[in-house]
Amino acid sequence: MSICLCCGPALLGRRGLLAAAVAAAALPSGVRAAPVSAGPAEGTLLDDLVAANRILYDQGVVDGFGHVSVRHDKDPNRYLLARSMAPVLVTRDDIMEYDLDSVPVDPRGRTSYLERFIHGELYKVRPDVIAIVHSHSPAVIPFADTKVALRPMNHMSSFLGTGAPVFDIRDAGGPATDMLIRNPSLGHALAEAMGDHPVMLMRGHGSVAAAQSLHHVVYRAVYTEVNARMEAEALRLGPVTFLSPEEAAAASKTVDTLVERPWAMWKQHAMGKS
Ligand code: MN
Repeated sequence: MSICLCCGPALLGRRGLLAAAVAAAALPSGVRAAPVSAGPAEGTLLDDLVAANRILYDQGVVDGFGHVSVRHDKDPNRYLLARSMAPVLVTRDDIMEYDLDSVPVDPRGRTSYLERFIHGELYKVRPDVIAIVHSHSPAVIPFADTKVALRPMNHMSSFLGTGAPVFDIRDAGGPATDMLIRNPSLGHALAEAMGDHPVMLMRGHGSVAAAQSLHHVVYRAVYTEVNARMEAEALRLGPVTFLSPEEAAAASKTVDTLVERPWAMWKQHAMGKS
């Protein structure tokens, strides 16, 4: 029997969620049981997550930093995220399973991203969200650090709606954090601040994109960066006429049906380099 990366504890005998909760309650305070695996994720989902990592690098959204996650297909209370490493180097073997408290199911010595709480806490409050990208894509950051809102320049970025909100970590973490979402409390504050928006900027840091699938979230992360470049250029020329909220809502519905076209192209380009 092959040993799956995502189901180590399952090999020891899978317990129900209730049993796991009882076991956790029996432990001394401050000590918690390792989460129970949801079992092996679908291979196509793992392949998509690897592709998403490479596409985001190839399209200039992530560099050595940044990450992308997806909910486990067998359990909405689990998500999949690479171990702490540069996204372009991620392979299937690097993908780890987490519960929504961002505790790894079976770390086996692998290091977790410090900011994994962005993912777990957002999945908790957004049942509609299936995939999340966190990046420091460079053209977006000027809009996180100024009062100029990131708004949709054209139909391709219509998911930006009335504009991306900005999360200021000082509101939750005080005046002297290291800017990282390094614990559940900061992750929860970020998730609450994001509300129903698909994209939120993070002052002095980067951005978060969320969507109903890996393909959609990659699309949004790429076009958030593209929109930021276009908007900065337009602002140099003069006053900008953005998509109206009504136009953005209508265009967003259409564009949501078209994300497979660029995904196929981006995937071929990114994977062809490996
Ligand atoms: Mn970050």
